[in-house]
Amino acid sequence: MNKDKLLEKIEEIQESVKQMIQDDIEENPEVAFEGFQCDCCGETGILAGSVIYEDYRLCNDCAVIAEVGLELKKINNIQELIDSMEEKRFEALYTSIFDSSTSNSESSN
Ligand SMILES: [Zn+2]
Repeated sequence: MNKDKLLEKIEEIQESVKQMIQDDIEENPEVAFEGFQCDCCGETGILAGSVIYEDYRLCNDCAVIAEVGLELKKINNIQELIDSMEEKRFEALYTSIFDSSTSNSESSN
């Protein structure tokens, strides 16, 4: 696959995964406001556009990474992606714990 084809493919995947957000919201408007913790990046995403892979629910951003990774054969399955995101999840947890304490020191005008 040449580079142009590759970029085209990635854009195609991005579009189709983004489209899932619209479809989900059309089907059930409440999911646009409902949050969940992504099993992949550990951040809070919205249910709309999230994708379930095997035992994991991934946010829309991670779904793009998963689809592209699978398409390009960078990963063989979702478990590999989940494992490779371990540090990212730790970071997200760390930030969620310590952000609240650091933002208190900032002065709000
Ligand atoms: Zn995620």
